[in-house]
Amino acid sequence: MSDKYAVIGNPVEHSLSPEIHAGFARETGENITYDRIFAPREGFCDAVLAFRAAGGKGLNVTLPFKHEAWRLAAVRSGFALAAGAANTLSFQGERIEGHNTDGIGLVRDLTSNLRIAVRGKRVLLMGAGGASYGVMEPLLREQPETVVVANRTLEKAIALVGHFEKLQARALRGISARPYEALAGAQFDILINATSAGLEGAMPPLPESVFAPGALAYDMVYARRTPFLDFARRQGVRVSDGLGMLVEQAAESFFIWRGVRPETKPVIARLRQEGGGRRAEG
Ligand code: NAP
Repeated sequence: MSDKYAVIGNPVEHSLSPEIHAGFARETGENITYDRIFAPREGFCDAVLAFRAAGGKGLNVTLPFKHEAWRLAAVRSGFALAAGAANTLSFQGERIEGHNTDGIGLVRDLTSNLRIAVRGKRVLLMGAGGASYGVMEPLLREQPETVVVANRTLEKAIALVGHFEKLQARALRGISARPYEALAGAQFDILINATSAGLEGAMPPLPESVFAPGALAYDMVYARRTPFLDFARRQGVRVSDGLGMLVEQAAESFFIWRGVRPETKPVIARLRQEGGGRRAEG
């Protein structure tokens, strides 16, 4: 009998997670099935409990349920503790464990796949939703010089910075919240778009001068052209979509569930060949 896993979200039909986990299972010889579950906006908890009652072992959680998943978890571990958002649930009998692997996924993609060190860099994080909460602590652990959080709704960026100030006081040199209009004159080495603007063909209002020489523009959105990466290309800087992050966070979830760490590079290469993401450009 295979062990059952799935990704749950709304919408969820676009998710590449089933292909990624099927690839990991083939590579590692783990006997699992992995499906998509569409949950109604008000029906997340019921859908999780029904999946567990049907023998499910664990779930990946995507938009818009990461905060709800965190609240549902009886035990939160690792980066989920500070993030207040969970993207991975693991069922241990009656107990639901919540984890957040998004930040590990981002940092591994930056440092291991793209070979960009975060240490000492000026980082701009755009967006203050679930994804930004998930990546903040792992990013801070890489010891960037500064992290500026910019968001359309400034209060949410201020709340995010306040949240991590309380939890991560020692790591907090140089973290601040700013509106996009206040970025004129500032320059960054790593610019991470953690907004969902690209999904609707939009981008945060950035000044052209915001890219330092040699900067990396990273969009968490994958499998489509985004205005942010097009804008960055026109400024002549290196760009990457979020496909590598997606595969890396999936690998960490797989490890949590199965205790086996799959190879990620072949899966990233295969998905890019199949058109599941645009290539990082030098
Ligand atoms: P979320 O909680 O819904 O937050 C969305 C964020 O985007 C908010 O900060 C929102 O600003 C901002 N935003 C939306 N439309 C905008 C626009 N037109 N201009 C400027 N800002 C805009 O979503 P999330 O969970 O944080 O996810 C964000 C994105 O990251 C999604 O596209 C998701 O698919 C992607 N993601 C990718 C990975 C990966 O592995 N590659 C992992 C996690 C997430 P306001 O606060 O002002 O509304």
